[in-house]
Amino acid sequence: MAPRAPFSSPLAEELAGDVLERFLRYVRVDTQGAYRVAARPSTEKQLELSRLLVEELRDIGLTDPELNVGHSVFATLPGTTDAPVVGLIAHVDTTPDVTGAGVSPIVHEAWAGEAIVLPGDTRQVLDPEVLPALAARVGHDVVTSDGTTLLGADDKAGIAEIMAAVAYLARTQGGPRATIRVAFTVDEEVGRGAEDFDLDAFGADIAYTLDGSDLGELEVETFSAASMRVTIHGSSVHPGAAKDKLVNAVKLASELVLSVPRGRLSPETTEGREGYVHPHRISGNAEEAIVDFIARDHDDALLEQHLDLLRGLAEEVAAREPRAKADVEVRHSYRNMRPFIEENPRVVDAALEAIRRAGVEPRLAITRGGTDGAVLSAKGLPTPNLFTGGQEYHSVREWASVQDMAAAAATIVHLAGVWAESTE
Ligand SMILES: [Zn+2]
Repeated sequence: MAPRAPFSSPLAEELAGDVLERFLRYVRVDTQGAYRVAARPSTEKQLELSRLLVEELRDIGLTDPELNVGHSVFATLPGTTDAPVVGLIAHVDTTPDVTGAGVSPIVHEAWAGEAIVLPGDTRQVLDPEVLPALAARVGHDVVTSDGTTLLGADDKAGIAEIMAAVAYLARTQGGPRATIRVAFTVDEEVGRGAEDFDLDAFGADIAYTLDGSDLGELEVETFSAASMRVTIHGSSVHPGAAKDKLVNAVKLASELVLSVPRGRLSPETTEGREGYVHPHRISGNAEEAIVDFIARDHDDALLEQHLDLLRGLAEEVAAREPRAKADVEVRHSYRNMRPFIEENPRVVDAALEAIRRAGVEPRLAITRGGTDGAVLSAKGLPTPNLFTGGQEYHSVREWASVQDMAAAAATIVHLAGVWAESTE
């Protein structure tokens, strides 16, 4: 064993046990969401964790926890000043892409730096040679799944950190603190986390999602996001009698996919603030075929250009085969939160200060994704995204450092204090 890595601060060390205990409990509850389900939540089982959290918030001593009509858990920790009300938000659901049933978490205490072979599926290896964030955490207590499921640190790390911080604040007197409003949402992973989110009932002046990743990061920029479905209508006839009659939608859909730029404007070839278009699903038959795209960019105007490009490609396919028809349907999902955050610089400054007080060097980051906070920011509640300490999200090789999760919980405790120092 390596010497155990120190915690970022005495407070982080004090919170670590509770954060880990809660985390190990929450990841065992299967909350996997589902794509393209009209019902809300997309899977009923997400609410099992929501109900558990309502009970645990009551045990902590809060008087008003409730699972509301918008399927969010809301609760209040009253403050000691009339400082702005601080919202803390995390999501109970996990990604539809990887199973979250029967999670059995493993704590690799004071991890010594060797490759971690996950025992449930030994093909799944966390190799520090290819995972620099892991390589930097020799001596940390590293939590993984057994390799057969997701771990679910996204976002149960965020939930455990909020719960541990609120429990700590509720049982200690300490100094002045702002009123905290807690929210645990459903279906964030399918882009519907902020749907039915009652901002008035929530009543926060500013908020933070605990849904980021690497230690010390505060994400203040997200993508702007849209999805596009192209439905190609061909004309199917028996192939034995198809001469001059068959219009094969499968072939036309393939042409469309092949016409998408490859050396650029794709997830495989872009990074940082570069946007992309991404065909992620193709389905259908000779009569009718569907190609689903997503488009992403940090710049709203460029996102529209990407959508125009896809529209043009769909039109070209239909133009080459006039007997076919291509229908295009666009949906905008969320917008880059940056302009909304910039109107409220205090929301960033307070978080950076709280991270510092937790003994961590803060870093502003951009995300090549979205968060509940992007939607809430556009609706008037500025909501940047704080780190949780989880890594390799949406993979069976997902992992989280207990030391980093504890630092996130300590950051939340300090946030309540930092905001109490700034009265409106
Ligand atoms: Zn998440």
